[in-house]
Amino acid sequence: MGLANASLNPTHNQIYYLHECWRDAKLGSSINPFDKLKEKVPFYESIGTTVKFHDDHLWAVLLVTPLMKRNHPLSSSKEIIFIDSTASCETSSSTITVILSATKVGALPLAVMIHASQCDVSDSEETTRRQKNLLLKCKNCPDYVKRLRNFLARKKEWILLFRKDLITRNNNTNNFSEASIRILKDVILSRTRAFNVIALCEFFLGVWEDYFTKKLFEFATSRRSSVTVFYDKIRKKSSNFTENDLKDLSNNLFKINSGEHTYIIKTDLGVCSCPSGSNGAFCKYQCALMELKKIRLPNAPPVTPEDKHELALLELGPKCPPKDFFCNFKNQLSSATVESNAFEMPNEQETDDIAHSNNEGQIINAKPITNFKREEILNELKRITDVVKIANLSEESGDRLIRTLQKIQTVKD
Ligand SMILES: [Zn+2]
Repeated sequence: MGLANASLNPTHNQIYYLHECWRDAKLGSSINPFDKLKEKVPFYESIGTTVKFHDDHLWAVLLVTPLMKRNHPLSSSKEIIFIDSTASCETSSSTITVILSATKVGALPLAVMIHASQCDVSDSEETTRRQKNLLLKCKNCPDYVKRLRNFLARKKEWILLFRKDLITRNNNTNNFSEASIRILKDVILSRTRAFNVIALCEFFLGVWEDYFTKKLFEFATSRRSSVTVFYDKIRKKSSNFTENDLKDLSNNLFKINSGEHTYIIKTDLGVCSCPSGSNGAFCKYQCALMELKKIRLPNAPPVTPEDKHELALLELGPKCPPKDFFCNFKNQLSSATVESNAFEMPNEQETDDIAHSNNEGQIINAKPITNFKREEILNELKRITDVVKIANLSEESGDRLIRTLQKIQTVKD
């Protein structure tokens, strides 16, 4: 009996009415949501999101969330920007334009703009009329020829041959834009339309922001194997190179010999004179340089603790733990843990110390040390001896260990 009693168990209409009250209070109306948006801007500002809007016939709302703000100063945001628009994501059929940068872990948003539709009905009718005319004229194809000629006049913009000098980091398609729009429609909006522009803004502030934060967290904590699989693949190709193939030309330039060819690598820009590396893609020669000289390149996959720390900084902002925290994560490189750990970059202090030493190797100063310290060193060497006896080392990692140990010299040597 209780189920039928509306004073105890609200009816569908009552629930719907309550939902409408809640929606009006939270999202305003679907026809003119800007009064409500104006009310909500101070709240958005308080959580670190910048919202600017222009309330007119051709209205527009610009959103920049905390994650997007942290993405702005990165070098990747200065190189390539992807822009794409999509429509039909909320009831007034506005257009969403997403601005993205191409980072080492894929596309990350820089800003989102929600604006009135690009054209009105009369424009659409005009477009349809033109398309029909185009089809009618297709018999002799003069329009097609004209279109092709127009494209050819702009060949320097799209033919790869003319784009060789551009730093595209191997991004010659608009895949990043397409994938991001799919994520927006499938993952963020679940193929539904938001109630109005404020509801859409809240999707961007909540679900969209969380999606990218989670993605960055997975990369920062080595939970995504795609990066290490890609790096491992290139590293295998570059395993034949030795120190003798490399020459430091100073000013961030290195020369690398490969058979009959010689390539130049510019480490600060992350470019190489080989065919695949000339537009900023990561190639096997850069990988060899990275492995042999322990140099960090701007276009290399994020496999070092420094890279992971940067990704975590992007994800967490000021709450990010210090860099040391990321040194303990094991890379998922398939070959061996020894090599993965050996890949950790020296910190700045150590780099300076090595640079200031006169010899190639590190010198143990001949000043007498305390017995306690001597005991500690001997214990450590004993531990290494035991590890070498039982560890399943590869030929390459054995060579690397020998080279490292041989760097330890006395002053007499
Ligand atoms: Zn190259």
